[in-house]
Amino acid sequence: MKNYSHIETSFIHGGISTDEYTGAVNVPIYQTSTYAQKNIGGDVKWEYSRTGNPTRAALESLIAELEGGDAGFAFGSGMAALTAVISLFKTGDKILISSNVYGGTYRVLDKIFSNFGITYQITDTTDLKAFEEAITPEVKAVIIETPANPLLTITDLKAIAEISHRHNLVAIADNTFMTPYLQRPIEHGFDIVVHSATKYIGGHSDVVAGLVVTRNPEDSKRIAFIQNATGGVAGPFDSFLMIRGIKTLAVRMDRHAQNAQQIAEYLQLHNGVKTVYYPGLAGFKGHEIHHRQAKNGGAMISFELTEDYDIKKFFPSLKLITLAESLGGVESLVCHPASMTHASIPRDLRIKLGITDNLIRLSVGIENASDLISDLKQAIDNSRI
Ligand SMILES: *Cc1c(COP(=O)(O)O)cnc(C)c1O
Repeated sequence: MKNYSHIETSFIHGGISTDEYTGAVNVPIYQTSTYAQKNIGGDVKWEYSRTGNPTRAALESLIAELEGGDAGFAFGSGMAALTAVISLFKTGDKILISSNVYGGTYRVLDKIFSNFGITYQITDTTDLKAFEEAITPEVKAVIIETPANPLLTITDLKAIAEISHRHNLVAIADNTFMTPYLQRPIEHGFDIVVHSATKYIGGHSDVVAGLVVTRNPEDSKRIAFIQNATGGVAGPFDSFLMIRGIKTLAVRMDRHAQNAQQIAEYLQLHNGVKTVYYPGLAGFKGHEIHHRQAKNGGAMISFELTEDYDIKKFFPSLKLITLAESLGGVESLVCHPASMTHASIPRDLRIKLGITDNLIRLSVGIENASDLISDLKQAIDNSRI
């Protein structure tokens, strides 16, 4: 029985939080591939570490509790987690994906699963009517992200779950940008939640990993089978790093979001900034839906410089914020979607989607907000043409 009722406490004490064999307050890194058995044909709890490992099991029970699901599963990357989830489907099945899903999700469907006869269709999940109209008999699932990269597009979780269930679709949410502290898609009716734990869950830019949480015991059994059969599991040390990351998730996310709110408000007032995309801003499209389903605006901001500024001068002018792929770490990172994360999209289409050459994506870290603002200010001012 749980003797607490708040998620902040779950981050520290949730799941299997102490070692069942020694009482160690941290579940140790069980760095082993196999386990001694007493005799043949016995009923053993641990037999082989692809199938199960105590450190990974501690993490899996923890993430299941945090997302409010039936079971959790840890993988070697966010893409391994998504691959396991897509492996639930078969030849002839079609999956709807929202227009701004992570590039790797699009790529694995387009280049790998299409070879096995699983098709996909890009759909605007912010338009509920268009979404429902896209559902044909072969459509078996939808994969959404909210807020989605890089324009922080908001999808209504409850509405998508309702429409999905009316048509027997499996509703899948990639909750990487929000974490279970800010948003829990299962509470809004979603069936499966996926994370790139490389981002906020790990939180320190030192691990690549992924997680899956299932709501229905039937799906839990199938994902457990797929995890063991295809083998993309997280190792014991990476599982430990995720548990360690989760312990501070609540305080980190509060600080991340506080900083982001301050920075977004600052950028909005800067003459050199044309548009700021941040769900925490009052006028932002989808602001109300987002605040119905999430605790705050999160810590991802995109913004566009006006034509009077040269983007090529902006990036090298930054002195504190690092230009790099990825997000969700304690340190602030920026990227240039047009040439980095979204470079594979043809320029015309990219601009139509709003991903212009002057768009900057910022993953706000937990440094002092004034230091970050000073760095942004001098870099913007320095890139004036
Ligand atoms: C990074 C990311 C992924 C992929 O995760 P990896 O851990 O890099 O494999 C999937 N979805 C989102 C939203 C991401 O940001």
